[in-house]
Amino acid sequence: MQGMMMQQALLISDILNYAAEAHGDAEIISVRTEGDIHRQTYRETAARTAQLAHALQAQGVQLGDRVATLAWNGYRHFELYYAVSGIGSVVHTINPRLSPEQLIYIVNHAADKMIFTDVTFVPLLEAVKDQLPQGLTYVVMTDRAHMPANTLNALCYEELLSGQPESITWPEFDENTAAGLCYTSGTTGNPKGALYSNRSTVLHALYVSLVLGAGYPPASKILPVVPQFHVNAWGLPYAAPLMGHSLVMPGAALDGPSLFKLMDSEQVFSAWGVPTVWLGLMGEIKAQGRKPEGFSEIVVGGSAAPRSMIEGFETLGVDVVHAWGMTEMSPIGTHGKMPESVKTKSFKEQIDKKSLQGRRVFGVDLKINDEDGNRLPHDGVAAGELFVRGNGIISGYFNNEEASATAFDSEGWFGTGDIASIDPQGFLSIQDRAKDLVKSGGEWISSIDLENTAMSHEAIANCAVIAIPHPKWDERPVLVAVPAGEARPSLEALHAHMSEHFAKWQLPDDVLWVEALPLTATGKVSKLTLRKQFEDYTLPELRT
Ligand code: AMP
Repeated sequence: MQGMMMQQALLISDILNYAAEAHGDAEIISVRTEGDIHRQTYRETAARTAQLAHALQAQGVQLGDRVATLAWNGYRHFELYYAVSGIGSVVHTINPRLSPEQLIYIVNHAADKMIFTDVTFVPLLEAVKDQLPQGLTYVVMTDRAHMPANTLNALCYEELLSGQPESITWPEFDENTAAGLCYTSGTTGNPKGALYSNRSTVLHALYVSLVLGAGYPPASKILPVVPQFHVNAWGLPYAAPLMGHSLVMPGAALDGPSLFKLMDSEQVFSAWGVPTVWLGLMGEIKAQGRKPEGFSEIVVGGSAAPRSMIEGFETLGVDVVHAWGMTEMSPIGTHGKMPESVKTKSFKEQIDKKSLQGRRVFGVDLKINDEDGNRLPHDGVAAGELFVRGNGIISGYFNNEEASATAFDSEGWFGTGDIASIDPQGFLSIQDRAKDLVKSGGEWISSIDLENTAMSHEAIANCAVIAIPHPKWDERPVLVAVPAGEARPSLEALHAHMSEHFAKWQLPDDVLWVEALPLTATGKVSKLTLRKQFEDYTLPELRT
């Protein structure tokens, strides 16, 4: 027997309609490329988004067309999210840190019709425009006074909106209509596209609101340091308006001092981003001897948050929520909001739990498989490849049959490529990317575990462990480290520091000091680049 309830499409346009009505005075506060701080309410945002939607239709944008953005976090980028998806077209967020070849590949692969760009990225587009599809319309996201001279024949964003009606009846269409497109980065080969739908985006926003935003005081300010070009800033531009929280958009300045200043002056409650960003902020906090006013929480993910970093923020009274996810998952899969049973534990035990990747959000199922595809128990010990299933997870890659064919197991679950264990309470522990594990003498060594322990040494500011080929053991771990100051402890001294947590054979064979670690387009340490950088390196014991 079927239920007798209405079926109303889950559409992104409804989120903004609702926010303008229910939370009309909450704000989007943006650091602009124009150099100032701009503020507008969700009510004003809805009016401007309606203008933009009319302008897009006047430009001939139709259902299913791809409209690209090349932009920092800001209110215009937010307006594009809603106007483009609201009329049934697809907002394709491009990561400006991709190589020119990758940018050319994805714009052609997506067959974008328009590109909206911040002033910052005009030269980037000019350099590659001859290799982009002909007939592309370029729009620079600024006003006439700040339009740069350019060879793109670009339109001006504010002129496009000017004179358009400030209200719109958003079209209704199937909730499975595509809404957003984001390409994966940091992998070998061409980037692969995750094509989100209206339905998946609305559901993901609800899941995120339910777990992450649930404890925030009313009308809090949330700062996504995670870029809008990286998996929709982890869904915050959809979740924050739903919950009635304000968004503080940092623009291009993501260094520690700039973030500190912005967070302090706006009294940001929670800030979301990758670990490298928080290392920068921590540096500034130490320099100033205090944390930004009102700063209460960080949500950290994208790569493993080092234990020493979690401890550092928790000591300051900042709640650290460790989350895990992927571009292919919209992206949030797990979150580290602690259950009551953990909150009463000792500080050390709480940090132990916070160093794990948290528990699944509603709407995401997790399983771990061994190499033959058999399910492993969730006992906190057995480790295998992590598979996921849910409404926010891709069912294939956009126009890429080859990649889609190998992405799922026989039960239709998506293979994450991460090696993990899950404990009986449901806490996920990511041990490594399958390709980053070090295989020594037939045994696996987790590079994340080694990095975590090395990072707790006071002389190390940041580090990464890579596998180096070895004729007898297959591979051996080597630590590549960025010094925190003048000190360069010897390998023996580092071993002494790490040996409490590892067997002797698991410890790195060498330490290589570098000025900085290479980062991927999404701000993670690029092990691919590191491996290339050290491909001619020979382990000490093999040198003749
Ligand atoms: P991306 O699609 O660029 O967001 O990358 C997703 C990958 O980042 C995951 O498959 C993990 O390997 C890694 N990742 C994300 N969050 C975490 C985390 N909290 N701890 C460890 N690895 C993470």
